[in-house]
Amino acid sequence: MVNLVLLGPPGVGKGTYAKELSRRLGIPHISTGDIFREEVKKGTPLGLKVKEYLDRGVLVPDSIVNEVVKQRLSMDDCRRGFILDGYPRTLNQAKALDSMVRIDAALYFTAPKEVIIERVSGRRICPKCGAIYHVKNIPPKKPGICDICGSKLIQREDDKPEVVERRLRVYEETMRPVIEYYRSKGLLIEVDASEPVVERIVLKAIEELKRRNIIS
Ligand code: AMP
Repeated sequence: MVNLVLLGPPGVGKGTYAKELSRRLGIPHISTGDIFREEVKKGTPLGLKVKEYLDRGVLVPDSIVNEVVKQRLSMDDCRRGFILDGYPRTLNQAKALDSMVRIDAALYFTAPKEVIIERVSGRRICPKCGAIYHVKNIPPKKPGICDICGSKLIQREDDKPEVVERRLRVYEETMRPVIEYYRSKGLLIEVDASEPVVERIVLKAIEELKRRNIIS
């Protein structure tokens, strides 16, 4: 059983690494961003509440996010562990998470700002199955079409340049204490994600988890 948190700026590739780690480790990938986007798409009461925050690229209030995560982590598939992606985003959330479960490690993916902006602007997602592509680094077989389900790929509203800059700023301000929090607990594992090869980055993360006896 391994309970992991993934940290890193928007666009560094967390979601992509999370999906690959989930496949290799056999534990669910839980993305609060994906959960919110899904709720917005379905027009649920939660979706209506969070839509405005998502469109503006600002954080959803802690009380809402914490409740969503608590419910998700209590589901059966999390008994063998989980990979949290996009949560915690504030020190408050990190402390709330500690009151729900024991966290084994926080994988912190880093890359220079120019690399991040390039990754975000080229990112395309499948609105139906959630697959993530990049026009250059991870292109779909047919341009603009999802390899997995054949849907037309889209650019996330908040991946547009004006919103990305705001998200990066919000990230800088709110994440520093979260990163320091995990560092002070000895749980932070930094992974250099500057190179574009997903496989190699994920293998580096797995090797480090093994080296520290967090997984076998
Ligand atoms: P993401 O896909 O992780 O970039 O999340 C997209 C958007 O969902 C963010 O810009 C926030 O509005 C919202 N969101 C996702 N996770 C969180 C969180 N842990 N705390 C607050 N807002 C969140």
